[in-house]
Amino acid sequence: MNLVDQPWNIVFLVGFFLYMGIRYVYQKRTSTEEKVHRQVDGAEKTILPFVLIGGLLIPFLYLLTPLLDRANYRLPDYLPYVGSVVMLIALWLFWRSHADLGANWSISLELRKGHRLVDHGVYRRVRHPMYAAIWLWNIAQVLLLQNWLAGWSALVSFAVLYAVRTPREEQMMCEAFGDEYRTYMKRTGRLFPRLGSRL
Ligand code: SAH
Repeated sequence: MNLVDQPWNIVFLVGFFLYMGIRYVYQKRTSTEEKVHRQVDGAEKTILPFVLIGGLLIPFLYLLTPLLDRANYRLPDYLPYVGSVVMLIALWLFWRSHADLGANWSISLELRKGHRLVDHGVYRRVRHPMYAAIWLWNIAQVLLLQNWLAGWSALVSFAVLYAVRTPREEQMMCEAFGDEYRTYMKRTGRLFPRLGSRL
C-alpha cells in the first residue's frame, strides 16, 4: 500500500488531518452565526464536487488502494522536504486566516448578520490569504504524493474554483462594503502583498 511504502505519504496524511481539524474547529465556531446573503450559483455547484474529488477522493484512493499505482513516479529526493516546509506554511496561514476572519468566515460566498470587513492580521496586505493557504497546500500535495493523479488533482480542481470564485467574491464584497472594500483592494494584493504598498 502506498501509504506505508512511501513515508512522505504519512507526512501528507498527518498534515491532512491537521488541515481538516482547523476547518472543523472554525466551522463549529461559526455555525451559529446567522447568514443574510448566500450566492452559490450553478458554476460553484458544478465545480465543488471536483474539488472534493481532487482534494479527498483521489489522494485517498492512491494512499489506501493500488488502483492508481500505474500513475506513480519518483520525484528527486529533496522535493518532498520542500513539500513538507510548504505544508507547514500552508497550515499556519490556513489557521491564521480562519482566526482573523473569525465569525465572518464561511465555506462559500455568504455574508453573515453583522458581517465586518476584516483588514487586519493576515488580511492586512493580502485579500485572499485563505486561498493562498489552499494554493500552498495543493503545491505541498504535488511535492509529497508521487503520483500523477493524486499529486496534481487538488491543484487542478482548485485552480478552476479559484478562477471562478475570486472575482465573484470581490464583487460581492464591493456590493456589501462599497468604498471601504474598494479602498482595501487598492492597498492589498489578491494572493501576494501589493508591490509598493506600505500599509
Ligand atoms: N477569500 C478570503 C476568504 C475566504 S472564506 C480568503 O481567501 O482569505 C469566504 C468568505 O469570506 C466569503 O464568503 C466572504 O463573506 C468572507 N470574506 C472574504 N474576505 C473578507 C474580508 N476581508 N473580511 C470579511 N469577510 C471576508
